[in-house]
Amino acid sequence: MDLKTLIRTIPDYPKAGVQFRDITSLIEHPEGFRESITQLAAPFRDKGITHVAGIEARGFIFGAGLAIELGVGFVPIRKAGKLPGETIGQNYALEYGVDTIEMHAGAVKEGDKVLLVDDLVATGGTAIAAISLIRRSGAVLEDAAFVIDLPDLGGADKIRAQNINTHFLIE
Ligand code: IMP
Repeated sequence: MDLKTLIRTIPDYPKAGVQFRDITSLIEHPEGFRESITQLAAPFRDKGITHVAGIEARGFIFGAGLAIELGVGFVPIRKAGKLPGETIGQNYALEYGVDTIEMHAGAVKEGDKVLLVDDLVATGGTAIAAISLIRRSGAVLEDAAFVIDLPDLGGADKIRAQNINTHFLIE
């Protein structure tokens, strides 16, 4: 199945000039959604992954499916202020200003092997903040899986420069 045909493009969202790649059309499609999880999981079946960490919000959708597929737990990485327990946080730069993502303290620890998941890489800034957060916890993070790469923005190269193996389903 050609997953790319199931991605919808919305022009001028969230602002003029942006071509938003929308995965809701993929996850509404039962075989497309299942196939995307199967393909995301393929390289990681025998790699000793102990946790899948997914980035709010679309990383939760693919990350939950992937965690079940791999038979491991799921760890949410959320926007600041959303997690109820004690957290560790990581700031990252936006086009204008700064944002913060958080993870529960102790959700992953030394000896764990984490797989990072999100729907899409643009500049790579969000994923790199998540990489720092997970590595600060003491867990090993060597792999990241995404549905879509926007190669013109160079984010995948920046992620690989952090010694992360990247797995993308669609460019
Ligand atoms: P980056 O930090 O610039 O790589 O942006 C990636 C983050 O923004 C991811 O969490 C994506 O979900 C979101 N994002 C940016 N552009 C798009 C898009 O076109 N479609 C869906 N999500 C996007």
